[in-house]
Amino acid sequence: MAHLDIPGLLKDTKLGRTAIVSSFGAESVVLLHYVVSVLPDIPVLFLDTGKHFPETLAYRDEVADALGLNLQVATPDSSLLEKEDPYGVLYGRDPNACCTIRKTFPLQDAIAPFDSWISGRKRYQGASRAALPILERDGEKIKINPMASWLESDVRAYFARHDLPRHPLEANGYPSIGCAPCTQPVAAGDDQRAGRWAHMPDKTECGIHLGPDGRFVRSAQDRREGE
Ligand code: SF4
Repeated sequence: MAHLDIPGLLKDTKLGRTAIVSSFGAESVVLLHYVVSVLPDIPVLFLDTGKHFPETLAYRDEVADALGLNLQVATPDSSLLEKEDPYGVLYGRDPNACCTIRKTFPLQDAIAPFDSWISGRKRYQGASRAALPILERDGEKIKINPMASWLESDVRAYFARHDLPRHPLEANGYPSIGCAPCTQPVAAGDDQRAGRWAHMPDKTECGIHLGPDGRFVRSAQDRREGE
């Protein structure tokens, strides 16, 4: 791991108002436990798309209780949903539009009051993350990647050391967990994100990361990443 003083960085007042954005997926609890041990009251933003597995919502509540999280749930605009996705099946016809309504717009609103936000991305998660910095500019905000230099073995060790709860679907073959209609289990040895939008081979990203110009991006390079 890098020798940067990450706890000191997280407490740096230059970061202004900071929040964590968490999907409460398979590895999320590690970031949450790590950051909350430094910043106990930090807001934890969860995008409730209305399409999550019930197991994810139960796991979110379990983790929030266990860690005493300051959980804040963002939801899609109901009038927009009524207009654009009245039957709740837009994901099948136009998943990019569905992600925009259910993830991108709510995230924009949720992080608006903050100057910086924390992501759990790591360099080992793919070639396009190989040079992931600890700090990066994200439009007008700063994005902090405190686990950028962690190895997969570091994550496993952290789970064990702190006896953290596992997402219940992980044991059923879901190493990457998003919305239920767009997530399938994967075979042993497959890419961790092979089960995300498996019915849409040209889409593998959820679109919650901002580009340098402050706009939300869905680049081909980032499609293997997501939250
Ligand atoms: S992951 Fe699927 S269901 Fe969830 S917002 Fe995106 S397209 Fe819609």
